[in-house]
Amino acid sequence: MKKILQDLNFNQLEELVLSLGEKSFRAKQLYEGLMRGKKISEINVSPALRAKLLEEYEDEPLKIIKTLTSADGTEKYLFALADGNVIEGVLMKYKYGNTQCVSTQVGCRMGCKFCASTLGGLVRNLSSGEILAQVLVVNALYGGLKDKRSVTNIVLMGSGEPLDNYDNVISFLQNVSASGGINVSARNISLSTCGLVPKIYALADENLPVNLTISLHQTTDEGRARTMPVAKKYTIAEILKACGYYFEKTGRRYIFEYSLIAGENCDKEHAEGLIALLKGKPCHVNLIRLNEVKERNLNTITEKDAYRFLGMLEKGGLSATLRRQIGADIGGACGQLRINYLSD
Ligand code: SAH
Repeated sequence: MKKILQDLNFNQLEELVLSLGEKSFRAKQLYEGLMRGKKISEINVSPALRAKLLEEYEDEPLKIIKTLTSADGTEKYLFALADGNVIEGVLMKYKYGNTQCVSTQVGCRMGCKFCASTLGGLVRNLSSGEILAQVLVVNALYGGLKDKRSVTNIVLMGSGEPLDNYDNVISFLQNVSASGGINVSARNISLSTCGLVPKIYALADENLPVNLTISLHQTTDEGRARTMPVAKKYTIAEILKACGYYFEKTGRRYIFEYSLIAGENCDKEHAEGLIALLKGKPCHVNLIRLNEVKERNLNTITEKDAYRFLGMLEKGGLSATLRRQIGADIGGACGQLRINYLSD
């Protein structure tokens, strides 16, 4: 595979252009084109520069090879990378704008029992440019420009564990929020992690105030370890402490994801457990009914029971919402589309 031009920030692109013996205004043209989701071969620079770039860089680091549209308007994309690997992404349409869910790795090595992304293990990390290109391509698909974006919010909740690909994810966050670029503000970006504690501290120190989301899904370490192997490494207490540090450094309230799994985590004792853990903390709980994955033997609960669980949390003083289950008819859960594609 060749190199990925979208890995470079504007200054690096300018250095590259100068090193190829071209004038620096060419870097502006290139950057403008890349931010509009164009291939190198489509960007209006001199043919000589284009040819030099194409010798070393992928013309198109990623392209959409399949789109599924849900009855609720959610779109799911299967992207092919330049080396033939596939990843997936989702665009959720809300009144206030469009939220894109991006992948950070091909596969995942965290092993969560409810998740389809981890079924084949980790294949490889995505480069920062491959993560960025997902946003650029989808933004362009909807006619979004650099300054008038059609993708307004980003969540790092596709395949992969973002903090397990730390350096590339940090570069992506810097590049996607750069003021001269597509400029999605860190406040409109959420990073979701299964709880890699040392990396949460590192992220807090990056001065990139993204919304931190933790996949909690349980109220005790033993219970959590049943579905999330990472729980054997980091305790809930350690995670909460790291979240406290994140709040101290960024002033951002943090969020807990809690997927409701029948017989596992949504009885009265779990509501009480959550209240005991989280009451009084600057956080919010997002409940979501499990998206059932056919390779996994776990079931969701009824909507009525989900609302009952939500009611218990609210009564206990927690700020919580039950997320609308969107795109369930198109394999909305992480990794489902890729798994279906790979097993076809
Ligand atoms: N690795 C990161 C981000 C990717 S997953 C993390 O663990 O947070 C995004 C969210 O979807 C996580 O909260 C994850 O636990 C949850 N998830 C994965 N599979 C799911 C499923 N089948 N149903 C409901 N939520 C799921």
